[in-house]
Amino acid sequence: MKNNTIVLIEPNHARDVVETPTDLLYVAAALEHAGNKVCVIDANAERLKPDDICAKISGIHCGIVGISCQNISEKDLIFELCKDIKQNSNCKLILFGDSSAKEYALFLSLCRDIDYIITGQGEHIFPKMAQFVFSGGEVVQPVGVSCVVDGIPSIPQSSPLYNVLDELVIPSYHLVNMSLYDIYNVTVMRGCAHACYACDKNVTTRGKVFKRNPRLVMHEINVLYNKYGVKPVCFVNDSFVFDDDYFKKLEREMVFDSGFLYRYPYTRKSFNGVVI
Ligand code: SF4
Repeated sequence: MKNNTIVLIEPNHARDVVETPTDLLYVAAALEHAGNKVCVIDANAERLKPDDICAKISGIHCGIVGISCQNISEKDLIFELCKDIKQNSNCKLILFGDSSAKEYALFLSLCRDIDYIITGQGEHIFPKMAQFVFSGGEVVQPVGVSCVVDGIPSIPQSSPLYNVLDELVIPSYHLVNMSLYDIYNVTVMRGCAHACYACDKNVTTRGKVFKRNPRLVMHEINVLYNKYGVKPVCFVNDSFVFDDDYFKKLEREMVFDSGFLYRYPYTRKSFNGVVI
C-alpha cells in the first residue's frame, strides 16, 4: 500500500530560546497547498533525541521524510538522524534548507542515506519532488534537486525564482504545538543582494532579495496573536542591509493601522529584526 504522508523534521538545535521554525512551516504550507498530508516534528521545541524522532516516525508510516538543514555545523547530527531513520523506515529522505543546498555534494558524499537534496526554493521544488516520489518516477524529477547518480552527486540545474513570501499567506502553524515557543519568527525578507560566494544565503535566492508585503506581515502577526496568544515577534530578514523604506512601511502598518507598540531596531544573531 502506498503511503503519501510527508514528515518534516526541524532538528534539535538545543538552543535556550525556542522559536517557531518558520522556513520549515512555509515548506509545509506549500506541500499542503499541493494536496499532500503533512506532519511536522519539531525536535528543537520538543527537545527530542534521534531515537525519539524515529519512534514518532514509526507511528506515522510516511513515504517521505524531509529534514531542514540551515546550519552546516549540525551536519553530523543530521547524518546520524538520517542513518537512524533509514534503518527503521523505507521512506525517501530529502534534505532542504540553505546549508544542505550549498553543500549538497559534500552531504551526498558523506551520507549515503540521503536520497535527494533540494538546492532551490523548497516551497516550489519540494511539492514537485513529492509528486515525483509518490508517482514512482512516472513524472520527471524537478530541476533544483541533486542526488547520487553513478556513485557521484549530480549537478543540479537552476530552477526559476519566485517570491514565495507573498504567495503563501500563512505558514502551517496548525501542524506544531504553538504553546512550546518563546518567540514567533515572522519572515519579512529573504535572500541577500551581496551574494558573497561563501554564504549559504546566496544559493537558493541567488543574490535576489524578496520582500514580503507589509500587509501580509501584519496579517500574520494578527493571526498569531488572535489564535495562539501574545508573545514577542522577531522579524526575520536574511539581508545584511537594513532596508529603511521597507521598515517604515511596516511601521505604518503596525503603529498607525493596527496600534501595536514596538522597539526598533533590535538585532539578534545574523538577523536584522524588530521585536514587538
Ligand atoms: S548575509 Fe552576509 S555573508 Fe551572506 S551574502 Fe549577505 S552580506 Fe554576504
